[in-house]
Amino acid sequence: MPDRYAVIGHPIAHSQSPLIHGLFAQATQQELSYEAIDGGTQPGGFMRALAAFRAAGGRGMNVTLPFKLEALACADVADEAARLAGAANALRFANDDSGPRIEARNFDGAGLVRDIAVNLAVPIRGAHVLLLGAGGAARGAVLPLAQAGAARIVIANRTADKARQLAAALAPHVGSCALVGAGLNVALGGVDGAGFDIVINATSASLAGAAPAVPGTVLARTQLAYDMVYGQGLTPFLRQAHDAGARRLADGIGMLVEQAAEAFAWWRGVRPDTRPVIAQLTRPLTVEPL
Ligand code: NAP
Repeated sequence: MPDRYAVIGHPIAHSQSPLIHGLFAQATQQELSYEAIDGGTQPGGFMRALAAFRAAGGRGMNVTLPFKLEALACADVADEAARLAGAANALRFANDDSGPRIEARNFDGAGLVRDIAVNLAVPIRGAHVLLLGAGGAARGAVLPLAQAGAARIVIANRTADKARQLAAALAPHVGSCALVGAGLNVALGGVDGAGFDIVINATSASLAGAAPAVPGTVLARTQLAYDMVYGQGLTPFLRQAHDAGARRLADGIGMLVEQAAEAFAWWRGVRPDTRPVIAQLTRPLTVEPL
């Protein structure tokens, strides 16, 4: 029997994870199976599905919305990224001399950083970063961006208090990176009004066909406008960034593939080449005239 892995979420039918891990397994000649599990909407559904998968010999799981908080809560051990993000997106079911245990990690931020710095070749070291949103995805991005050398990160959220609280909670962990929390509608001109090198949309606004309400001036001189959402084509945020003068646009497909590669390497001890998988899944962000 090949080793079994899965992604759990709700809804899950459209998950790209089985395809991505199937391609990784093929390329690295790893014998494994990877399935999608719907955790449903009933209370306790996630824990029941996880227990059943584990009892059937499952070795590890990717976890997506809405179960990332529960995934951290069920773990016996978690790394710093997961603890500071308050959420886990990968689990490993270990059973060695120390006995059976659930280990948790959060690779979302690492996937984002690798996509920006390596795949898109946009330097993070020394960059001034505007991070839109203060939900789970933004929370997981702050520490990896700071560790990658961002000089300043402004977290801007529709509900300003959430951004301020997040900045205050993470400030002791970001070293020399200046970390600020603010509302979306404050003057976000960046240092000396020079704008931001990188603007990341970590809100879920794109899923509702909207853009976070940021002034276009914030996006005018940005090197990279990055929308974490993927598979939506040119989102309203990316369109706005393009029209405001942002140099490059990217969606979150590279982040998705990179976080998957981190989980694969953690489970299997071999890191797959992400480039052909990203190339296969990337849809062009075509800018049509309005
Ligand atoms: P979440 O925890 O539900 O947080 C949602 C955030 O979006 C909150 O900060 C919320 O602000 C903000 N928001 C929602 N609608 C908005 C609007 N119309 N205008 C301005 N702000 C708005 O969601 P999440 O887990 O952080 O996920 C955020 C996005 O990242 C999702 O689209 C998800 O698909 C994407 N994501 C992608 C990857 C990847 O691998 N590419 C991984 C993780 C997440 P309030 O606090 O004011 O409500």
